[in-house]
Amino acid sequence: MLTEINTPKDNRIVFAFPPDSGELAGQRYHLGLRFCDNPACRCGVIHVGLSPESSDLGADSDQAEPLPPSVEFGIDVHRRELDAQGSRQRGVKQQLGTAFVGALSTEDWTSLRRIFYAYKRKVTDETPDDEIEATFDADDIERASTMVSLQEVLPYAERKVVDIEGRRF
Ligand SMILES: [Zn+2]
Repeated sequence: MLTEINTPKDNRIVFAFPPDSGELAGQRYHLGLRFCDNPACRCGVIHVGLSPESSDLGADSDQAEPLPPSVEFGIDVHRRELDAQGSRQRGVKQQLGTAFVGALSTEDWTSLRRIFYAYKRKVTDETPDDEIEATFDADDIERASTMVSLQEVLPYAERKVVDIEGRRF
């Protein structure tokens, strides 16, 4: 089960394996999340790093450095599964990733998706339009003479229609 710990300094996410996880039961890990920061990319991959939670690293000990991740793997928030391809490329221990994904509840996936979309909206807003590596199929667009909506190119954009003098309409 995922728990979000919000301190004035930062937000941490802790994962505890549920009681039915065999020898992993009760083990607690800090989650480090990395996201694909291409605003036009439709992959749902989050790279998860799990660091064992040391016993003296409580919510109020902000000075303590989190341990480096002992395991990293990718998960896909669209498919709700381990991103086996990405994880294999990094040659990580599959078992812990598989156990982690297997122990995630529906609410956990919902939380991860929420964080994922919040991040994607943030990079979409922060990336200048001319740096976005969107792929248009120019032939298709011309043939069908359709307009491509911003939402089709930037799946995470807020419904931004036009920008006039910094104001959104
Ligand atoms: Zn991506």
